[in-house]
Amino acid sequence: MSPTVLVVGEVQDGHLAAASREALGVARSLPGTVVGFVAGSGARAVADEFGRFGVAEAYAVDDPRLDGAPVGARIPSVVAAAAASGATVVVVAGSTLGRDLVGGLAVRWDAAGATGVTELTWTDESLRVRRPVFGGRATETRALLGGRYVVALRPHAFPAPSEAPTPCTVHALPAGEVPPALLAPERTGVVAATRGSGPGLTDASIVVSGGRGVRAPENFRLVEELAASLGAAVGASRAVTDAGWRPTSFQVGQTGRAVSPQLYIAIGISGAIQHIVGMISSRVIVAINSDASAPIFRVADYGIVGDLFQIVPALTAEVRRVRGL
Ligand SMILES: Cc1cc2nc3c(=O)[nH]c(=O)nc-3n(C[C@H](O)[C@H](O)[C@H](O)COP(=O)(O)OP(=O)(O)OC[C@H]3O[C@@H](n4cnc5c(N)ncnc54)[C@H](O)[C@@H]3O)c2cc1C
Repeated sequence: MSPTVLVVGEVQDGHLAAASREALGVARSLPGTVVGFVAGSGARAVADEFGRFGVAEAYAVDDPRLDGAPVGARIPSVVAAAAASGATVVVVAGSTLGRDLVGGLAVRWDAAGATGVTELTWTDESLRVRRPVFGGRATETRALLGGRYVVALRPHAFPAPSEAPTPCTVHALPAGEVPPALLAPERTGVVAATRGSGPGLTDASIVVSGGRGVRAPENFRLVEELAASLGAAVGASRAVTDAGWRPTSFQVGQTGRAVSPQLYIAIGISGAIQHIVGMISSRVIVAINSDASAPIFRVADYGIVGDLFQIVPALTAEVRRVRGL
């Protein structure tokens, strides 16, 4: 029997987040019916957007208490939406919320869970997932068991779905009993993390990172200028953040951020394993390094052996020229 698949949508700038639309596309590739779910203030209007992508039914918990609340506060309403729709498969984006939801929902809803999924198929009444393991050095395939499944996708691993407008019936659901301890704690202050003016590191489709090879903090502007010309986020190796050239929020790797953009450009980065595990699942990797034997070239799709002080400004100028900047 084909499953009913519930897509848990997240809200970004008052609309269904791009990552949630990817999740919706994946859900549509499975046999069976797809239903949507959104929680938080304005959830009804956002849930209605599922209709743009061919979903005829969605559930909304329009409750501002869930805005920014920890994932535990949302789980009762996801369980309620699954019960109301008869869903046995829940698909979420590979966001922080999505990954947290997998753990919590697996326990509360008695489901098999998987995160970082890059392929999803429905075979012999069970859900099979494929995902990278060991820092991207291998790929595993698992058949999830038990009849209920919750999966979070790997960010940027899937294309956005094509539009197929259809009228969408949105059912309102109550948030249910949410213990006060599970609601967002009152915010008493905010200190913004230092980051460039471009896109966020983990969401960006292009990341340009610099390493110790740039030699001095003031030279890091070469990395930033190339990033700006491409509309990319800026990253760094730990050598750079440890030296205080850029804040730790820029760090990519084992003890920094894991990124999986469409394009990752590593400039003056040797390719230590602790850096590689944070960027290996990028779709295309370009390395610029003066040492032809640098380990980064083992994982790069394209490599430029040479002096970054000559190559990067020339690349930036060419990108600007091509893009008319
Ligand atoms: C527990 C632990 C956790 C760690 N976590 C992380 C992490 O999260 N992220 C991370 O990045 N590292 C991490 N590290 C550190 C990691 O092991 C490396 O030390 C670090 O990644 C090296 O940074 P780098 O490549 O910038 O510097 P280096 O290894 O010094 O490499 C600099 C590179 O620049 C090249 N270069 C020099 N001059 C030029 C030039 N003019 N033009 C072109 N290329 C040039 C050199 O050939 C060299 O390959 C961790 C280490 C440990 C022990």
